[in-house]
Formats: sequence, C-alpha cells, structure tokens
Amino acid sequence: MNDHSVVLVLNAGSSSLKFSIYRIASAEPWPLDVRGQIEGIGSTPRFIAKDGSGGTLDEQTLGDAIHDAPSALDFLAGWLRARYHGVSVRGVGHRVVHGGARHGAPIVVTPKVMEDLRALIPLAPLHQPYNLAAIEAVSDRLPDVPQVACFDTSFHRGHQVVAEVVPLPLEIRQGGVQRYGFHGLSYEYVASVLPHVAPPLATGRVIVAHLGSGASLCALKNGRSIDSSFSFTALDGLCMGTRPGALDPCVVIHLFQGLGMSAKDVETVLYKKSGLLGISGISNDMRVLLDSTDASARLAVEYFVYRAAKEIGALAAVLRGIDGLVFTAGIGENSAAIRERICEASSWLGIELDPAANAQNGPRISTQTSRVSAWVVRTNEELMIARHTGALLGLMEAGRQAVSSPSAATARP
Ligand code: ADP
Repeated sequence: MNDHSVVLVLNAGSSSLKFSIYRIASAEPWPLDVRGQIEGIGSTPRFIAKDGSGGTLDEQTLGDAIHDAPSALDFLAGWLRARYHGVSVRGVGHRVVHGGARHGAPIVVTPKVMEDLRALIPLAPLHQPYNLAAIEAVSDRLPDVPQVACFDTSFHRGHQVVAEVVPLPLEIRQGGVQRYGFHGLSYEYVASVLPHVAPPLATGRVIVAHLGSGASLCALKNGRSIDSSFSFTALDGLCMGTRPGALDPCVVIHLFQGLGMSAKDVETVLYKKSGLLGISGISNDMRVLLDSTDASARLAVEYFVYRAAKEIGALAAVLRGIDGLVFTAGIGENSAAIRERICEASSWLGIELDPAANAQNGPRISTQTSRVSAWVVRTNEELMIARHTGALLGLMEAGRQAVSSPSAATARP
C-alpha cells in the first residue's frame, strides 16, 4: 500500500492512545483508512484497529512493556510501518485539551508552543501531560514530520467577558483562572455539518448536548460558541459517568477539612468516583444503568436527565430562546430513552418529540410542527483534527494535486 500520503491523528489519554489515519484526498471529507486504540496502558494493554467501515483489522493483547506514551507509540509505529510501508505521513494532528488564553486556534507545534502548553499542565493535570507526551514521542521518532496541536478550548474562545469571568479576586484570576469550556472539537465539527444535516439550525440559536462519558452543553449562535456548561475544567456542569458536574465548592472544602482527605484522594473522588457511578454505586455506563431495576441506578439516570434539562434551561436563557437542540456523542447518539426524557423535560421550550424518528436515531427527532426542532448529529472529533492539520499544513492543496497527477490512479487501494 503506497503511492499516497496520509495524516495521522492522535488522541492520547492517561491510559489510552486513540489513533486515526486519513488519506489526503482531493475532496472533503478525507477517507478514513484506519481507526483504533491502545487501551489499558500501564495495566493490561490491548490493541484494536478497524478499517474505515468499522471492520476489525487487528485485535491483540499486548505485553506489559506497553506502560507509557512512548512505548505505546513505538508499538503503534511498528504496526503502522508494517501496514503503510512506503506511505508518506505528511502531518500528525493531536488532540490537546488546553490551549489556555493564548492559543485560541490550532497551531503547528514548535518548541515555544510546547513551552506554552507545558505551563498549562496545572490547569489540566489529568489530560495535558499525556497529550504533550505523545507530541514529544512523535518528535523523537519522526523529527521531520510537522505536528499540529488542536485544542478542546479553541472553539470557545471569543466568548463575552461575562461568560468567561470567574468571580474571584484578580490575583487569582491572573493565574489563568477563568471559564474556558471544553469538548470544543466536537462542537466545532457539529457546527460545521449543521448546514448539511440540519439546515434550519445553521444560522440559528442552538444548544448542542455532547453526552458521552464526559458530558457538556454548548450554546451556538450562527455556528459560533456563545457559552458552555464546562468552565475552568471539564468537571463543571452536567452529571457525567464518573464526574459530578456542578457542585457547591463547600463540598470540596468539607472533603479536605471535614473528612481529612488528601488532594490526590479528592481528585480521585471528583474525576473517577462521582457522577453516574457515584450515585448508582453500580456503573458509569448509561446502558447498564438503563437496564437496571435498582433504585440507585434509577436515581442516577433521573439526576443525569434533571441536570441536563436544568442546564439546557440556563443556556436557553443565555441565547434568549432556542431554535434547536442537537444530541451527540455516545449517549446522545445512541440512547433514544435518554433523548426522550431530556426532550420531555425541555418541552416547555417548545420541543415536541417524534417518537418514531427518535427510535431511529434521527437525524431529525422532533415533529414537523415542533416550534423548536431536535436532532441527532454524529460527532467526529478526529476528522475535525485531520481538517485542521490539513489546513494548517497546506495539505488540502496537496490532495488536489495528488488527484491530478499520473500516480493518483493507484493511490486508493
Ligand atoms: P468518550 O468518547 O467520552 O469515552 P463516548 O462519547 O464514546 O465517550 O460515550 C461513551 C458512553 O456512551 C458510554 O459510557 C455509555 O454510557 C454511552 N452509550 C453508548 N451507547 C449507548 C446506548 N445505546 N445507550 C445508552 N448509553 C450509551
């Protein structure tokens, strides 16, 4: 498999390395060639790779030598070399959680950019170090391949000051304490496809609900982010799989002073033990909770819906009314039951659900007469990263040239 060029997209977390390979082509969207991940890094690592249509290409349990980002990347590099012998990697796009106040747009990585991004580690200690470790590991192995950092915060830059400020003293705010917003790559992708998928909403007032293991809302006006339920970190707002969402800060003071917990333990409670898992005591997986008859599982689902509807009301106030509600991510795209409950709780806004369309997962799930329409849009953060990488590195043009060159006929398998 050669004679063509690809872009590699990496999304590196604390225990997983997700990757996608896109072929550089003449037209958007670029074809997805492979998508996969190494999960369980540091415990029981497993590798899985699927082709562009979701068929499994490879699946294997890895040895415990795969214990960090560099070793995971070495394995992935070997696998990719075997599959893509002779293929040119023209760029690597990374998901990076935090761009801070300075980086409001994706950027080609340089030593200075890395310095800026390292300074943000204290603001996102559970994500940023792993994102940056992947960039460093690629630099070591492919020093001549340009890399692009795509931030989860970028799409939310440009909010009004009142939507960004955290009401604390100036000396604290000067250290970067402000509302940033996250899931930006997902919202940016959804906003980019609204003109095709849900044309009436493209220029309207829209709330997008990204409901996955992390969950948040974004208020869109004319396709631009106006506000978000996430703020300083990805802990605020909605109830999530293992994160609580909005919480009275005195609860945290109580964990320290009343219960004598350490900072590490508090962090673990807030990021890994709360939310759906904390309330149910059973699981962080919505499917398990919906299937359970246990009262605590029912309460967890009820709280998830209650909180989502409450925050939808808040963002509807920010937008002064809405034209549409869009569901995306694992729960939003797949759970008709949760969408039905959230739409029912938000019916006062003028949403009238079409049960048959909802059962089919959309795309339009409200009746034709519904004053506010509701939709399901599948998100694609990796494609958004590939687009940014292609645009910043001038590869869109390269794709067009490849197609008009004589070797182009053999470029596709
Ligand atoms: P992330 O990318 O943040 O890991 P996803 O967007 O993939 O998360 O969402 C994962 C979550 O989606 C799972 O934890 C599960 O609860 C939920 N999910 C997936 N499919 C369904 C479904 N059919 N019904 C309910 N929940 C679902």
